[in-house]
Amino acid sequence: MSYNNCPICTTSLVILPIGGKNRQSCQKCDFVNWDNPKPVTAVIVPMNSGIVLVKRKYEPFIGDWCLPGGFMEANESPIEGAIREVYEETGLNIEIDQLIEATSPGRNINVIILFYLSKIATGNPIAGDDASEVNCFKHNELPVNIAFDLHKRLIDNYLAKIKVY
Ligand SMILES: [Zn+2]
Repeated sequence: MSYNNCPICTTSLVILPIGGKNRQSCQKCDFVNWDNPKPVTAVIVPMNSGIVLVKRKYEPFIGDWCLPGGFMEANESPIEGAIREVYEETGLNIEIDQLIEATSPGRNINVIILFYLSKIATGNPIAGDDASEVNCFKHNELPVNIAFDLHKRLIDNYLAKIKVY
């Protein structure tokens, strides 16, 4: 993101080459707009011989289905964030099995997404937070409207992999 003024001292920012890149910086205080990506988690949650997806309540892709997850909070580990987000959006309790992939979507979407696979979820699915619906889809009955290419690819990879075993 870019700023109009310094978020610390409100002085107008200038563009200066810092660390090999032009960045917004403040000539009064030491603020530099590094614009680092924010970490997000997304989790493949197996349950009832299927996977748990949430229907998006907000833009972008409102009404489409995606993996549960969201932005990490301050002072929590990525795994804690993943477990919390899954609980907030689905009401389900999970334990993380493994990190599947850490990647960024590109297209100026300034996040890094940590994709986890959880162990089989327990509890009753109840939609909450920014999910309008939660559903457990059998592997051959996934919805066609899955938001985010990355989520779709990770789901496809997961399904291809479990068919091997
Ligand atoms: Zn400043």
